[in-house]
Amino acid sequence: MMTPDDFRRHGHGVVEWIARYFETIRERPVLPRAAPGELTASLPASAPEEPEAMEAILADFDRLIVPASTLWNHPSFHAYFAISGSPPGVLAETLCAALNMNGMLWKSSPAVTELEQVTLRWLAEWLGLPAGWFGITHDTASTAGVHVLAAARQRADAASREKGNGAARYTVYCSELAHSFVEKAAITVGFGLDAVRKIGVDERFRMRPAALDEALAADRATGFTPLCIVATVGTTGVASVDPVPEIAAIASRERVWLHVDAAYGGAAAVSPRYRHHLAGCELADSFVVNPHKWLLTPVDHTAMYLRDPAPLREAFSLVPEYLRTAGHPAAVNLMDYSFQLGRRFRALKLWFVMRSYGRRGMAEVLEAHCGMAREFASRLEADGRFQIAAPVEFALVCFRLRHGSDEDNRRLLDEINATGEAFLSHASVDGRVVLRMAVGNWQTMPADMARLAESVMRLAGGVT
Ligand SMILES: *Cc1c(COP(=O)(O)O)cnc(C)c1O
Repeated sequence: MMTPDDFRRHGHGVVEWIARYFETIRERPVLPRAAPGELTASLPASAPEEPEAMEAILADFDRLIVPASTLWNHPSFHAYFAISGSPPGVLAETLCAALNMNGMLWKSSPAVTELEQVTLRWLAEWLGLPAGWFGITHDTASTAGVHVLAAARQRADAASREKGNGAARYTVYCSELAHSFVEKAAITVGFGLDAVRKIGVDERFRMRPAALDEALAADRATGFTPLCIVATVGTTGVASVDPVPEIAAIASRERVWLHVDAAYGGAAAVSPRYRHHLAGCELADSFVVNPHKWLLTPVDHTAMYLRDPAPLREAFSLVPEYLRTAGHPAAVNLMDYSFQLGRRFRALKLWFVMRSYGRRGMAEVLEAHCGMAREFASRLEADGRFQIAAPVEFALVCFRLRHGSDEDNRRLLDEINATGEAFLSHASVDGRVVLRMAVGNWQTMPADMARLAESVMRLAGGVT
């Protein structure tokens, strides 16, 4: 057993390690130079029989684990959506582990439940969302999506909790650029992949409401039950924004559940400059934003909101006797609103982050990220060899070699990533390969971006 003094000594060492990691992170490659299986081969096949010294464990962390790690918290991590575990969030995660609470019921720890409700209300206010919405956290937007479909089904058919889908042939609608969670959620609730209708997009990669209308009418005419429309604010590939007001009007007329997936783009609304991207979201039945994506909060933290939580509760409340508690209106039992029972103290890190940055400070960070993305795009555009493949709405730039083949673009991406100086990912736009450069790290500075732009232009070589 670790003595309090040992804990103190190693704890100080760990904090020192983290502080140095943040300070000197630019000296490290973003991507590990590890071959598949290499880490596994360097670790023993079995766990130790006898206790090992913390010194040895920490030394192996440094020597074996970190070099095999992709540094998601690196200022030159630009792949997927760049994310941040900011220092206040890291401190909160440490304290969360120390308290090690399980917030399944209000009674099992009032702080878990109440701080979650408070921070999600604060966040709704920062984003300009309705004050009366019910908030609950999940690990990911994908998990939230399964709850959304279950709640939508519950609202459509109160007996579905007992009977499942029954004879209904439910359908779900999203744009062809929506995140794959829609399909996974449809698989999970038993609708199946065939139930997902992919609606076409316009020249700015936004769902076409007229095509949505047609799809709904065609399905109704052939005996399907349209259940849910998923609109996306900030699609994963190109960060396009679906026309939520028009989609909301259709959802309301058709009495279909409207879910807004703002996992990435929703964060931008902390800044009044980007608030307009959430126009119409107040009409949604459910809404998701991921603080772990672009609100400087360590993974995992998804915020899910519902205009009316009753269908979710009706779908999932199932209280075994040993968990029954005396009801009090202010004592929400979060297990009644999700399929999971246990619940970690996610709110603590969001609370630390929100207080530590303040709304103004957070808005400044996000505006700076967007500014750096736009600046990067103009540098590439000025070069002449590159094409910006989608409008830069947030802090994501999609670009390609104007006259290069898919192969040339893939090679450019590989060469950038092989430098170790930055990590970019790719997407497909209009069937062609594009490189994706997202800015989202708390330490990324204009100088990092200038270096990246130069490196991209140098590696593009003679290919135009
Ligand atoms: C990242 C992302 C998701 C899913 O994220 P998880 O939280 O990892 O499930 C969903 N929608 C969009 C638009 C995303 O960018």
